Amino acid sequence: AKRAGRNGYQAFNPEMQRAMSMRVRLSQALRDAVQAGQLRLHYQPIVELASGRVRKAEALLRWEHPEFGEVSPAAFIPIAEDCGSIHCIGDWVFERAACQAARWRSRFGTDFQVSINVSPRQFQAGGRDFGRWLERLGELGLDGSMLALEITETLLMDTDQAIADKLAQFRAAGVQIALDDFGTGYSSLAYLKEFRIDYLKIDRTFVRDMTPDSKSFLLSEAIVTMAHRLGLKVIAEGVETPQQYALLERIGCDYFQGYLFSRPLPEDAFEGLLRSASCE
Ligand code: C2E
Ligand code: CA
Ligand code: CA
Ligand code: CA
Repeated sequence: AKRAGRNGYQAFNPEMQRAMSMRVRLSQALRDAVQAGQLRLHYQPIVELASGRVRKAEALLRWEHPEFGEVSPAAFIPIAEDCGSIHCIGDWVFERAACQAARWRSRFGTDFQVSINVSPRQFQAGGRDFGRWLERLGELGLDGSMLALEITETLLMDTDQAIADKLAQFRAAGVQIALDDFGTGYSSLAYLKEFRIDYLKIDRTFVRDMTPDSKSFLLSEAIVTMAHRLGLKVIAEGVETPQQYALLERIGCDYFQGYLFSRPLPEDAFEGLLRSASCE
């Protein structure tokens, strides 16, 4: 039972206070995480359904803190966004993923692509980060098409023209755009009309609830049909069972990722997987 304080709100709540002080400690630790080399990228294979081949990978951040242990990105990304560390972390992710993608391209095929997650905050800093990223690609002599940016609908809700311009610049440099967690949040099909998007990622919650007569299945089928009519490809995330896979195949989904094929892997393990797959 919650006891209200004199002013109508809870005067003291030890649990809340613990959570808040943990947040403060995490945000301080995050400031040093890049410098201290505590961040890693793991890569989850993205498989083309038609060929069964690994064509892409999603880069996912991992933070191993000496005291707190492994901290989930779901926990620390929101904190990094609030305290501003997201810019420094995002730059690191970009640099690391771009160099890795270039290496894997030269070894495993010229259409191999790595996608990175970017949060709306990174766009809203006047686009500073992204201007540098495009320059950096040029300096490194890298082809933009080796990268995709995973953005969310929240970003497109912002009517700021600068965001549309930034996305257009990336696409002009060959970088592709994926709309992450599609179907959650305030989906509006108007985004698809206004912005040039390359991939829709069907959210894990749809895949999780997918059975032949479920709404999730019907909605996924409708998403694939619509996407294809608009010239977009569809990636399903969080595929864990052969049943889910079979249903996605039935509706003509283009790519999938999930524990059924592989969890996100450290760089060397991912490379081992690519090597064994390319020798098949
Ligand atoms: P997301 O972009 O939706 O990433 C998918 C999440 O689902 C990942 O969690 C992945 O490990 C997990 N996943 C993959 N396959 C399966 C499956 O079959 N079953 C289940 N249950 N889960 C699966 P993760 O790695 O913990 O990342 C959580 C979120 O943190 C990401 O969600 C993304 O929003 C954010 N994130 C991760 N890395 C970055 C980054 O470099 N930058 C930014 N801005 N956000 C990131
Ligand atoms: Ca993602
Ligand atoms: Ca997602
Ligand atoms: Ca998500």
